[in-house]
This record gives sequence, structure tokens and C-alpha cells, in this order.
Amino acid sequence: MVKRELTAVEGKYLTLIYRRYYEESRVVGTTDLARSFKVQPATVTETVQKLAEKGFLEYSPYREIRLTEKGVYEAQRLLRNHRLLEVLFVNALNYEASKACEEAAKLEHYVSETLVNKVCQVFKHPLICPCQKTTFHAGRCGEKQHV
Ligand SMILES: [Zn+2]
Ligand SMILES: [Zn+2]
Repeated sequence: MVKRELTAVEGKYLTLIYRRYYEESRVVGTTDLARSFKVQPATVTETVQKLAEKGFLEYSPYREIRLTEKGVYEAQRLLRNHRLLEVLFVNALNYEASKACEEAAKLEHYVSETLVNKVCQVFKHPLICPCQKTTFHAGRCGEKQHV
């Protein structure tokens, strides 16, 4: 089995940093992350340093955290997984959007690209998830979007 370079917890950091910076135009700091994940700032620093060593972000103490190109790619991949799972749960299983989000958060790290692409195709290439956030379509499922 191929060892995943990114752990599930590290993935949560990447997606939160991505959302704050690119979708909410907010600066991300370790204090903000510690509050969001309900962990000690020292734990955040440790994880952020690991992500920096793996090349997903740039970080030095007292500076804001910036994702690298590789970090942005991974964050978008995980958010796409999350948001297409929401599409699946809401449309096929009649889940409420908030409940769908909760379940998607548990699975986003583990689903295969094949499954997510299939969801994209079956649900006609949704450009947004049930909570109106982008699915980063751009033909990622291997088909042109039907718009
Ligand atoms: Zn598609
Ligand atoms: Zn959503």
C-alpha cells in the first residue's frame, strides 16, 4: 500500500488554511488554528512545521502561514472530495446540508478520486456544493462541464 504523504489531521489544516485565505480573505495564524481545532498552540506549531517540511506551506514564527502550490493543490483536492460527497448525500440520500457536511468531513480524506469523479458525472457536474461553495470543477472529473 502506498503511504499517504498527508495525514487526515494535516489535511484538515490545509483545507482550513485554504478556506480562510482564499475564500474568506483572512490572514491565518497559529492562534486562529488552535482555536478552530481546539488544541494547544504548541500542537498547531508542530503540525504546521511538519506541513512546511513536507512542502505544503511556508511558515516561520510570527509570520502568516502561506500555502505553497502543492499545498493549494492538495487543499482543493480535499475540498472537492468534501463538496462532492455533500452533493451525493444531499441529492441521493436526502441529507440536510449541515449533516452532509459533517459526514463528508469524516470521509474527505479517504475517498478515491474515481468515486468522486463518478459523483461529479452522475450529478451532472455541479459547480457548487449544497452550501454554495465551489467544487473546483474545471474538467477535473475528465468530462467537460455541462453549462
Ligand atoms: Zn464533472
Ligand atoms: Zn458545502
